[in-house]
Amino acid sequence: MQKRLLQKKFKYKNTSVKYFLSGENPKLLIISGIHGDEYKIIELLQFYLKNNFTILPSFLFIPTISPSALTAKTRINKNKNDLNRQFFEGTTDNEAVVIMKFLKDFNLKLCLDFHEDKYINSFYFYDSGSLSEGELKFFKNKLSSTGTRLYSGVDDTKDKYLGYQLKEGYASLKDEVIPERGCFWDWILENKISDRILNFEIPIKEDKKIKVSIIAEILNFAKDYLL
Ligand SMILES: [Zn+2]
Repeated sequence: MQKRLLQKKFKYKNTSVKYFLSGENPKLLIISGIHGDEYKIIELLQFYLKNNFTILPSFLFIPTISPSALTAKTRINKNKNDLNRQFFEGTTDNEAVVIMKFLKDFNLKLCLDFHEDKYINSFYFYDSGSLSEGELKFFKNKLSSTGTRLYSGVDDTKDKYLGYQLKEGYASLKDEVIPERGCFWDWILENKISDRILNFEIPIKEDKKIKVSIIAEILNFAKDYLL
């Protein structure tokens, strides 16, 4: 049967979430747009997935986790929240509620969470698991070949929940004690929605072609991982 990419909507109370579904029984979740000021990557990601879904494993793609923040192009949404601090039981933010309701019964193997960094002009990502030395070397080579630079240093010294040390674009948070902070990342792992999550920070000022190559390498990694 030919694979199709379906565009659908999940509705709960007065809120709805737009998503794309490719194939059956997806083990891969791809998300973007949790922060409204990180919108440039969404279009590129959407374009890439629409053109390549036939060669990718089945996936679920939610491009706009916080529609109201994206409309305003701000980090906070219409409820004056950073939505990435609203993923906890009892949250009153309807944009988090609808996503949690929608994803609750999924059992995924890998989640790719796309963000953009406005201040750091090199690429980096966090991993809830850990890559072996060989995997890491391979992935770093692939990422470097896109033309992007890999960031080494601290991510953010001002955010009280961050302050992680990156080494050549990578940080494994496998053994980190995660504070109570309501991140999408935490909720996904605590509720076993996905076994593993990778959070990518694409430099916002990076060349468009390089961004597309980064997306392609990330999806190639996911493809191999889910084989
Ligand atoms: Zn972000």
